[in-house]
Amino acid sequence: MKLQSAARLANARPGHAMHKALRLPAIVLAAAMASALLPAATGTAHAAAAQQKTQVPGYYRMMIGQLEVTALYDGYIDLDPKILKYTSAREVQSLLARMFVESTPGMQTAVNAYLINTGRSLVLVDTGAAACFGPTLGRIGDNLRAAGYAPEQVDAVLLTHLHGDHACGLAPNGQPAFPNATVHVDKADADYWLSEANAAAAPKEAQGLFAMARAAVAPYQAANRFHTFNGGNGTEPIPGVRALPAYGHTPGHSGYLLTSGKESLLLWGDIIHSHAVQFRRPQVAIEFDTDSHAAVITRKRILADAAKGKLWVGGAHLPFPGLGHVRRDTAGYTWVPAEYGPIRTDR
Ligand SMILES: [Zn+2]
Repeated sequence: MKLQSAARLANARPGHAMHKALRLPAIVLAAAMASALLPAATGTAHAAAAQQKTQVPGYYRMMIGQLEVTALYDGYIDLDPKILKYTSAREVQSLLARMFVESTPGMQTAVNAYLINTGRSLVLVDTGAAACFGPTLGRIGDNLRAAGYAPEQVDAVLLTHLHGDHACGLAPNGQPAFPNATVHVDKADADYWLSEANAAAAPKEAQGLFAMARAAVAPYQAANRFHTFNGGNGTEPIPGVRALPAYGHTPGHSGYLLTSGKESLLLWGDIIHSHAVQFRRPQVAIEFDTDSHAAVITRKRILADAAKGKLWVGGAHLPFPGLGHVRRDTAGYTWVPAEYGPIRTDR
C-alpha cells in the first residue's frame, strides 16, 4: 500500500516527490549512522526524551461580539453506551464507530463550563463536578486560574440545572468556591432537587443526586446568595443573559443565550450527551433524564433553532471546548466545532 501511494505521488509530481523518495533511504541511513556513532565519538550519551504525558491547560477562549468567552474543562467521565434509550445496541455501536468513538471502558464524555467576561461582570455558567463523580473530574477551579482569573472574581454563577456534574463545583468540601458570587437556577429545578420530600420519595440510586444538589447550594442559601428565576420567554436572571427553558433532562433545565453585536451564543447545558449518536438521532435519550420524552422534544426544538439561527453553541458534554455550530443535514444534524485560533478583533 505504502509503495503504491508513494509511486502515485511520484507520478503526480515527478520532479519533486520522486527526488525526495529517492533521497529518503540515504537520510535514514545517515541518521542511523549518526545515532550509532555520536555517543562513542563525543563520549556523552544522548538519552531518549522522556514522554511528558501531560495535557495543555483546559481552557479555550474566543470572542462573541464584545463578550469574552472562556470554555473551562472540568474533566471527563466514561459513560456506558447502554444508558442511551430509544435506540438499539447495534445502532449505537454503528454511530459510535462512524465517529471513531470508543465504547470501552465507556464513551469518553467531557464536562465543560463557560466563563463569560462581559466587560462589566464575570459570569460562570455551570461549575463542574468537584469530587462528586470521581478523580477524572473536578478541574474547573484549576483551569479558571490557568485562564487568568480567580474564583473570587466571579460575580454570578448560572446553573443550567442542579445535577452534580454542573453544581458540585459550587461548594467542594462544603465551602463556597465562589465567595462573591450570586447563584441562579430555574425555580422548577430548585423546587424539584432541593425538596426533602422528593429526596425521600426517590429511588435509592437517585437519592445521591438530591443530596449533591442540596449540599452544593447550601452555603449560598445561608449567605442569601441563592436566587431562582421563573423560566419563560425574556427572563434575564442577570442583565444581558437570557434564560431559555429547555425542560425535560431535569424539570428546570435551562439554556442561556448571550448576544453581542451580530453574534449570539447559546450555552445549552445537557441537550447532547453523546455527540456521535444524538446529533444524528435527536430522538435518542439518556437514562439521566427526569423526563426523557420531554427531553427529546426539547432537543429537537433546540437543535432546529440553533441550526436555523446559525447560533454559536456551547455544550456541557460536547468534546472540549464544546464550542461550535449545528448544521442541519438530510440525515439529522452535524456538529461543526470551532477552529482553534487567536482572539480576533478585526471582524
Ligand atoms: Zn450533565
